[in-house]
Amino acid sequence: MPPVSAISLAHSLLRREILDLHAYHVPGSAGYIKLDAMENPYPVPQQLRDEIAAAVAQAAINRYPDPDPAALKEKIRGAIGLPREMGVLLGNGSDELIQLLAMAVNKPGATLLSVEPSFVMYKMIATFTGMRYVGVPLLTNSGAADFSLDLSATLAAIRREQPALVFLAYPNNPTGNLFSTDAVAQIIAASPGLVVVDEAYYAFASDSFIPRLADYPNLLVMRTFSKLGMAGLRLGFLAGSTAWLEQLEKLRLPYNVGVLPQLVAEKLLEHHDVLLLQAEQIKQDRAKLYRQLGEIAAVRVYPSEANFLLFRAANATAVFDGLKRRGVLIKNLNGGHPMLSDCLRVTVGTPDENERFMTALQEILRYE
Ligand SMILES: *Cc1c(COP(=O)(O)O)cnc(C)c1O
Repeated sequence: MPPVSAISLAHSLLRREILDLHAYHVPGSAGYIKLDAMENPYPVPQQLRDEIAAAVAQAAINRYPDPDPAALKEKIRGAIGLPREMGVLLGNGSDELIQLLAMAVNKPGATLLSVEPSFVMYKMIATFTGMRYVGVPLLTNSGAADFSLDLSATLAAIRREQPALVFLAYPNNPTGNLFSTDAVAQIIAASPGLVVVDEAYYAFASDSFIPRLADYPNLLVMRTFSKLGMAGLRLGFLAGSTAWLEQLEKLRLPYNVGVLPQLVAEKLLEHHDVLLLQAEQIKQDRAKLYRQLGEIAAVRVYPSEANFLLFRAANATAVFDGLKRRGVLIKNLNGGHPMLSDCLRVTVGTPDENERFMTALQEILRYE
């Protein structure tokens, strides 16, 4: 038999849509002021670090993690004020839960629907799992309403496509805005399938669908602790009716959240108030950064209820490169979705980081 190279074997065995994918690119960030990934810029306070270190020293690393960590779930319920009759399902980050949901409803021909531009993992995971994907454009050229839901187009798409699964990021990433509550409610009510309201940015937003879970049999709320200071732990969860969660539990890999993330998250949630104070600080600094960006004539900044700001500037890629040369890493959205041409996204950092970003940006807009 002639020898077969790994590359030709991979090309003959892999699914076409996987060969066509581009890997999710995470740029190196060592040495930069890192304002590209919606992380909380504040480290865990020292006293709490010591407490965590002591607990980690006692952890049973030789054992599999608790597959149903009741104490951790209780802390989560307490922290978010989850109604008693609702359940919690834990994920290795909420990305894993998007994948689990897609696998669960993926009958032949099943459709996943979201809006565009939104969180790219919805479409990527539809591709991974072989689901049909439909993206309904958000409004553009509507002035202050830019990036809000096109309700009539979304309702028409739902009637036409009958999606098994709908994702709405609330607030939306990468645009930062919180969709109209009433429009989201109408979409849930009109959907024949499951609607997941993705509240990754809940700590920075003025509204939530958690109190409305009981109103809809087809609603789940997904959250993550990544944006609240635990991105390194990888912990997300679905909240909703136990009728749904008991079924979805069957698909969860039994040990998807490790011993250390469980333990550290539990400790951190005992000090949830510390994290919420950091979120309050970030909201204040977001308001300041929004004002400052708004004062630059060459920049259009969009309102945000998240821990980042989307803004548009001519020659965005040159602006991005100029910032990078000055040691500031943000996210360049130019060249991605057509509705995001010349768009950049900056995560709100510490006051000092924000200032260094603004100084660099002003310098670039003045001289380049
Ligand atoms: C960041 C983000 C997530 C993913 O969070 P992880 O828990 O870190 O996987 C999910 N949804 C939206 C809208 C996000 O911006």
